[in-house]
Amino acid sequence: MRVVVVGSGVIGLLTAVECVLAGAEVDLVEQAGTIPSTSATSYDRQRVVRALHRGDPRLTRAAAGLAADWRAVELLLGRPFYHRTGVLTVGPAAELQAELALLTELGVAAEPITAASLAARYPQLRFTHDDQAILESAAGTVLADQALLAAAWWLRGRPEVLCYPGSQVIRVTESGAVVLAGGDVLGGDAVLVAAGPWSRALLPIPVANRLTLKRQTMLSYQGFADWPAAPAVLGLGNRRDAWLMPPVAGRPPRLSAASACRSVALPAGAESPDEWREHLIGRFGGLISDFEPAAVTATDGYYLTEEAGQGPLLVQLGESRVWAYAACGGMSFKFAPVLARAFADRALGRPPRPTGLAAVDQPEHYVAARRELFI
Ligand SMILES: Cc1cc2nc3c(=O)[nH]c(=O)nc-3n(C[C@H](O)[C@H](O)[C@H](O)COP(=O)(O)OP(=O)(O)OC[C@H]3O[C@@H](n4cnc5c(N)ncnc54)[C@H](O)[C@@H]3O)c2cc1C
Repeated sequence: MRVVVVGSGVIGLLTAVECVLAGAEVDLVEQAGTIPSTSATSYDRQRVVRALHRGDPRLTRAAAGLAADWRAVELLLGRPFYHRTGVLTVGPAAELQAELALLTELGVAAEPITAASLAARYPQLRFTHDDQAILESAAGTVLADQALLAAAWWLRGRPEVLCYPGSQVIRVTESGAVVLAGGDVLGGDAVLVAAGPWSRALLPIPVANRLTLKRQTMLSYQGFADWPAAPAVLGLGNRRDAWLMPPVAGRPPRLSAASACRSVALPAGAESPDEWREHLIGRFGGLISDFEPAAVTATDGYYLTEEAGQGPLLVQLGESRVWAYAACGGMSFKFAPVLARAFADRALGRPPRPTGLAAVDQPEHYVAARRELFI
């Protein structure tokens, strides 16, 4: 079996690893000059891995094992990148009770934190008066760039893997021909397109037109020197949409909020427009004690969502094994180990292991001039 994987972000790399583990040969194709690409969405300082998704029990169930999955990937790749910082999800007490019961049922280590304890344990943060929280102690953050480098290093040493950095794919046909910008054509028994926010260029127009590109500004905050150890924090602020990736391994915390996410036409680099930097400075001025606006630098990231939902989208193109992870959404990093297993299963013609994500477990099937759902 030979599988062509387009894209060397977290999805492409971990799918390639899974294919090799299953005995397949892999062509890994990347438009950037290096594998992994430093401009991939995934190639960032950190990504949060947690089980609890407030108000979404299906997602919480699907995410219950992800911390263990990431530790298994870390063990396999042989380099450290998972940090068990804990993840704190803040919310109204009445809602958190049910969330805590669900986590307990799922076997996820979690403890309630009262409003009084929050202020005492995390003096660097400002909470609103009715805030309580759940601390998932085994959850944490992945040093994302380190994880990608570890996967690339693991793959590079294998005779079954051919890497094609600096190779832009311009077309993928329904029969599985992967056409490169220079005119070369790669082919295999299966193809997975995992091109992140650039995916629309490789998709049939009706599929591409349903995808929305999101751009989000984040602040990197250097004013954390006297903070006590901090978990990742979600649900901050009156709108409960602000989050913080914790300082870890000498890396400063990252701050952002859903209010700093907007729809845009095209990826336009990582530099943040001033207005969005100022927007986040305004918001975190009220959420971090003694906030120092001069201690921030801002950067932007991108991801695609499917118009009908905020989540991901998997599409089978044509009648052969050609798959596109068309929209990776704002949460695919944490799910990458289970997504990669499922994508490798599909590529190799095995029954796919469920991910718990409906759009992946029941993907869409697109055949030119015809589109249908199948299980
Ligand atoms: C601000 C922000 C915060 C986030 N926080 C989290 C979080 O805490 N937890 C979480 O789970 N997720 C988070 N996400 C989402 C997560 O980072 C993404 O869903 C995930 O990284 C996508 O990985 P990917 O491999 O699909 O895409 P990418 O990492 O973007 O990789 C795609 C690769 O494909 C290559 N490529 C593209 N087009 C072509 C082509 N034509 N030919 C060849 N190569 C091509 C690109 O160069 C790139 O290397 C966040 C996203 C953002 C923007």
